[in-house]
Amino acid sequence: MTDTHPAIRVSEIFGPTIQGEGVLIGLPTVFVRTGGCDYRCSWCDSLHAVDNQFRHEWETMSIGAVWQNVLALSGGRPMMVSLSGGNPAIQPLGALIERGHGDGYRFALETQGSVVRDWFADLDVLVLSPKPPSSEMTTDWAALEACLQAAQGKPQIVLKLVVFDESDYAFAKDTAARFPRLPIYLQPGNHTPPRPGNEQAPVDLEGIVKRMEWLVDNVTRDRWFEARVLPQLHVMLWGNKRGV
Ligand code: SF4
Repeated sequence: MTDTHPAIRVSEIFGPTIQGEGVLIGLPTVFVRTGGCDYRCSWCDSLHAVDNQFRHEWETMSIGAVWQNVLALSGGRPMMVSLSGGNPAIQPLGALIERGHGDGYRFALETQGSVVRDWFADLDVLVLSPKPPSSEMTTDWAALEACLQAAQGKPQIVLKLVVFDESDYAFAKDTAARFPRLPIYLQPGNHTPPRPGNEQAPVDLEGIVKRMEWLVDNVTRDRWFEARVLPQLHVMLWGNKRGV
């Protein structure tokens, strides 16, 4: 049967592993990482799925081919599928979600909220992750708001903010004030992101733990009791290794 749905640009499909961050931390997950991003964050740790210079590593795949990969990795046992990137919202993922739901799988998608899709309403979990000042990107608040509208309150929606310094922390507080109804997850970023292809690049775990402690001190000092502070578990376990 011919797959008439638009194809998806895929950087990598891997798992099962555990989700390393945010609301689904610890949950066994298969990852579909799409290729391409409309942002270029200064500390991006997924440049291999962002920069056009790695385009030759990306594969344009039919929905059926992507799904066969997920089925093989999960042994056909329904589980959580994380759609990440890059910015997965750039890709036409609606038909993939429909296909997976038909087999009993669940879908989470993480995006900076710059591109709006009507199929956000079909997700199980939508993680909106606006990028703070240290990223050197500028958040389009109207687009982020439109993402929320598109989701129509159907998936679980959460905010996830990476925090490197005081101005990022102020940005996180501002974001929480704009969207007071959304749960917010804060995490210290990896300030030693790898160059693509250098998975052995060391991680400054001590520095990450220090910033984690600083974050906890900040939210407790400010009596910001709605914020949840989490590490990036996969960085603590596997450093900069890919595919885990
Ligand atoms: S939005 Fe995410 S994937 Fe895109 S450049 Fe920023 S950190 Fe990298």
